[in-house]
Amino acid sequence: MKICFNQATTMKNSTLEKDLELCEKHGYDLIEIRLDKLQDYLTRNTVNDLADFFAESKIKPFAFNALEFITFRNEKENEEILNNLNFLCQVGQVINCKRIVVVPTFDIGDYTKTEIKEESVKKITELAMIAKQFDVKLAFEFVGYPYCSVNRFEQAYDIVQTVGLDNVGIVLDCFHFHAMGSRIEDLKVANPDKIFIFHIDDSEDLPMGAARDDKRLWPGDGAINIDGILSTLRDIGYDEMVSIELFRPEYWDWEIEKTIKTGKEKTIDAISKYFIVQ
Ligand code: ZN
Repeated sequence: MKICFNQATTMKNSTLEKDLELCEKHGYDLIEIRLDKLQDYLTRNTVNDLADFFAESKIKPFAFNALEFITFRNEKENEEILNNLNFLCQVGQVINCKRIVVVPTFDIGDYTKTEIKEESVKKITELAMIAKQFDVKLAFEFVGYPYCSVNRFEQAYDIVQTVGLDNVGIVLDCFHFHAMGSRIEDLKVANPDKIFIFHIDDSEDLPMGAARDDKRLWPGDGAINIDGILSTLRDIGYDEMVSIELFRPEYWDWEIEKTIKTGKEKTIDAISKYFIVQ
C-alpha cells in the first residue's frame, strides 16, 4: 500500500512547494494536489518546475482535487468546469498525474434519486470522454452530508457502474462513508478496480448527518469503524494507495511539518495491521 498526502490536511497555511518538500522529507510515496494550491504555485513557478521536482524526487503526483459540484450547473458554471478539466489534464500530461477527483453538487432541491442518477451519469460521462483523450481517470467522490446529491457509497457506486467507462471510478473516503451510514456489506461486493482513490481519516462521534469536514480526526482517534473498512478493502483485494485527508482547523494551526509527519505515522499505524507498507 502506497502512502499519499492530500493537501487539504495542511490547507490553511501551506503551499505546494512546502508540502512537496516536507512530504518528500518524510517519505510519502504520493501526493494529491489541490487545484487552488496548484494555481497559487504557478504564480511563482512553471509546470516544468513541477515536473522537474517530481523527476528528481521519490514522491510522485497521484491525483488532482477537485472538480467540484459537477452536476445541475448552468452554462457558465459548466464552462468553468470544462476549463478546469482541460487545465488539469494538460498539467497532468507534463507531470504525469492522471487522476482527477470529481464531486457531486449540494443543495439541489427536491430531485429524486433517479433524476440525480441520470444527471450524474450524463455529466460524468461527458467529462470522462474529454479526460480519456489525455489518458486521465475521473474519481467520483460522494460526500457524507445530508444535503449532498450523492451522499452514500452504494449510490455513488451505482452511478459509476452505470457510466461503465474504464476511466471512471470512485473515491472511498472513510469520513464520508461513515457520516451518512454507508454499509460495509455494500463495500464487500465492490470491484476493487473501481476504487480509484482511498481517503483515510476519522471523525468525532456525532449523530448521522451532523458531522462536517472540520470534525475529522487522525485515523484511529475517532468513532469510524476504520478496521471494518480496512479489512474489507484487504478482503476484496484493494491495496493500491491510502491518502491522509483531514480538514481540521486545529491541525491546520500546527507547524506544517508536524502535521505532515503525524499524518504519515497515524496512517501507517492504522493500516499496518491489514496491509504491507511499501
Ligand atoms: Zn475525501
